[in-house]
Amino acid sequence: LTDKIAALPPDSNYFSLEFFPPKTQQGFSNLNARLSRMAQALRPLFVNVTWGAGGSTSQKSLALAEITQRELGLTTCLHLTCTNMSRKLIDEALEQAKVLGIRNILALRGDPPRSEEYMDDSDPKAQEDDSNRDFNWAVDLVRYIKKQYGEYFCVGVAGYPEGHSDQSHPENQSVEHDLPYLVEKTAAGADFIMTQLFFDVEAYHKYEKRLREHDSGVFKTIPLIPGLMPIQSYQILRRTTKLSHANLPTDILKRLEAVKGDDEAVKRVGVDILAEIVASMKKSDSVGPRGFHFYTLNLEKVAAQILERCDLIPPEPPAQEANGDAVAIEETD
Ligand code: FAD
Repeated sequence: LTDKIAALPPDSNYFSLEFFPPKTQQGFSNLNARLSRMAQALRPLFVNVTWGAGGSTSQKSLALAEITQRELGLTTCLHLTCTNMSRKLIDEALEQAKVLGIRNILALRGDPPRSEEYMDDSDPKAQEDDSNRDFNWAVDLVRYIKKQYGEYFCVGVAGYPEGHSDQSHPENQSVEHDLPYLVEKTAAGADFIMTQLFFDVEAYHKYEKRLREHDSGVFKTIPLIPGLMPIQSYQILRRTTKLSHANLPTDILKRLEAVKGDDEAVKRVGVDILAEIVASMKKSDSVGPRGFHFYTLNLEKVAAQILERCDLIPPEPPAQEANGDAVAIEETD
């Protein structure tokens, strides 16, 4: 996907959409229909498929990635976590991704390693468990993928404009704490950075500036893709911002609180808010094309409205293939 980004005009915009694998067969067929509509109508540069921490959704994530990459022809970025799951599962996921033609992996840690007992090989519990103790941080996965696959996979890592939301270690939440590890992940070969969701645009700009000007120099040109979450409901918003440690600026909160009893109004105001965020970010300087990653929560309408309002939907490609076919048929006839 970094090749696709590099091929865009430097002052242009692009976007990606994130989906998680549904739990049921019915959920899959609903999402399948929605995805083909969205692929045709919205034309994202790429899509992301999430991975349940510890490999809890491995089969379903791969099944969804097969639909997006193979059936719908969408450039797919498969998320992969590395803690609390076996190396075998990591190997299988990467092999399967390769078989499906997937070239992009977002390398994540997932949940913190279950406990220190797994660090001690002499502990019988550790021997019973096949969790891989070589993988404690996302950087371990970045290094592993690069070692096993060279440049075959384009590897992304997570960035946190407002610090990491490590609930178990509140002292580790600041950007300052996280930054050396982001340097490490990038120096280990990460090709792009995708961020945690945020609503505080100032905080994002500060973060971006800090990365671009960082003494290490590793962030100078790397694609940095800001994560945005369309507002689907007041409750979901409050829950996700709390979990992700994202600040809700007072003016945004006030506008939503004024309508919080009316779901449709929340969505309407939410579209306005996201459209304003995108518009202001489009105006700001960026290194290379400015991208936007949308956490869709598998929902279509609100994301589509934001993309339309922000003029982010690329024009339909010329129907080359159809013409080609028509010519071929005429010629054979
Ligand atoms: P790391 O980069 O390893 O960092 C984790 C924490 O440890 C940070 O606080 C960091 O500062 C600290 N740290 C890192 N290295 C070291 C070190 N060597 N020594 C000490 N401290 C260190 N989760 C899922 O389960 N599935 C998904 O699909 C998923 N998708 C995501 C997509 C995006 C864009 C983002 C931002 C997050 C996603 N997550 C997902 C959540 C992610 O797994 C969690 O945030 C996780 O807690 C941290 O992952 P990481 O890759 O940032 O970890």
